[in-house]
Amino acid sequence: MSLLEVKDLHTSFRTDDGIVRAVEGVSFEVEKGQTLGIVGESGSGKSVTCLTIMGLNPSRNTISTGEALWKGKNLLTAKPRELREIRGSEISMIFQDPMTSLNPVHTIGRQLIEAIQLHRDLTKRAAHARARELLKAVGIPKADARMDDYPHQFSGGMRQRVMIAMALINDPDLLIADEPTTALDVTTQAQILTLMKRLQEEFGSAVLIITHDLGVVAETADDVLVMYAANVVEQASVDDLFNRPQHPYTWGLMGSLPRLEADLERLTQIPGQPPSLLRPPAGCRFHPRCPHVMEVCKTTVPPLAPSERDPAHLQACHLDQETKDREAAKLLEITMAGAG
Ligand code: SF4
Repeated sequence: MSLLEVKDLHTSFRTDDGIVRAVEGVSFEVEKGQTLGIVGESGSGKSVTCLTIMGLNPSRNTISTGEALWKGKNLLTAKPRELREIRGSEISMIFQDPMTSLNPVHTIGRQLIEAIQLHRDLTKRAAHARARELLKAVGIPKADARMDDYPHQFSGGMRQRVMIAMALINDPDLLIADEPTTALDVTTQAQILTLMKRLQEEFGSAVLIITHDLGVVAETADDVLVMYAANVVEQASVDDLFNRPQHPYTWGLMGSLPRLEADLERLTQIPGQPPSLLRPPAGCRFHPRCPHVMEVCKTTVPPLAPSERDPAHLQACHLDQETKDREAAKLLEITMAGAG
């Protein structure tokens, strides 16, 4: 049995302007120790997918259907108390901006100790020792002295390390990281990703990483879901996605990876903006931005289906296989040239 099995998940929000369908028909599994990346632009539904699984959407205006089976139990129908227990002990989350999760008026040490004592039956002294251990594990130098510092005395990267320490308090089976490195500079970002990878090996947690950056997926994930306008448009192992990308949107994301910027004459950013989810375009939602658009794309939704080359590689695009292979090979050639 998978740790987490999401089946045909749909999430909509009632707004004054109408129904926003933020997630439509998302399915995936996460196994023990696996890292799954969900990648897409802002508004693609990647964060809402995770918030739905965790029961953290505003309940009054949210309609969710499908299943999110956590060790066989459907989180979508779980009672709030059960969800809180699972969130506190088995699934942890790390968000983009640690400042919003840390209390600015309490020291880092106090916040860690309180979180430890909330979840574990430890004396203050033992919790203090555990807090120090965790700060050391996430690479905070002079952890002893820094226990008495306040969040504003830490850099962005160090604050994110503290949040990772908080997330590890319960030795979670699954760590959900929502844009964990977006607010950080490139060097710190690389350090945090390396840290997450090391801790995942050490703690054995599965990781669900949500990002707009395919580079982060390449660094951390085993498998990946590419989302566009509430839908999954491609789903594959990271190796397959990077070696044989099948969808024009993925090609666009790969083309805008920073390491390719030296080759801007041949590569461009994806033109235009993602559509409004109140009134999304008919047919393939990517068609207004797609350089390969055909008439059929404007009227008929391409189903998410196995690629002709590999049944485990899913893609939702009307292009024929020959064109996909040709475009993927072209992109790979440019990528290699850019990397070399
Ligand atoms: Fe582009 Fe058509 Fe494929 Fe959509 S279905 S990605 S518009 S080629």
